[in-house]
Amino acid sequence: MRGFLGAVRNGLLLRCPACRREPLFTGPFRMHPACPRCGCPLEREAGYFIGAIYINYAATVVLCLGGFFALDWLAAPSLAVQLAVWPAAGAAFPLVFFRYARSLWLNVDHFISPPYPRPEGP
Ligand SMILES: [Zn+2]
Repeated sequence: MRGFLGAVRNGLLLRCPACRREPLFTGPFRMHPACPRCGCPLEREAGYFIGAIYINYAATVVLCLGGFFALDWLAAPSLAVQLAVWPAAGAAFPLVFFRYARSLWLNVDHFISPPYPRPEGP
């Protein structure tokens, strides 16, 4: 799948935006500086992943606000329960979503402005 949706799909699969095969991460929070397969630079400049922070923040806000109102509508728990659940979710979710936010940012940015001409895929 090519195009924007292909870039989003590849981002969710945590793969290199150029060759779309190699995993981006070597550990829970550590990325390759460049793709070991195709050499695509994965961090173009200092501060490059600030956009990923915005993605992570937006996803966290949508989850917590949406979850708050959905849970209120579905089960109507007490305010104390809501205040126990959603701040904890707001603290834990960005850690879980960290890799996906970086990968989405990298893949969409690569789709919009690749750092060099795309290599021919198989
Ligand atoms: Zn690659």
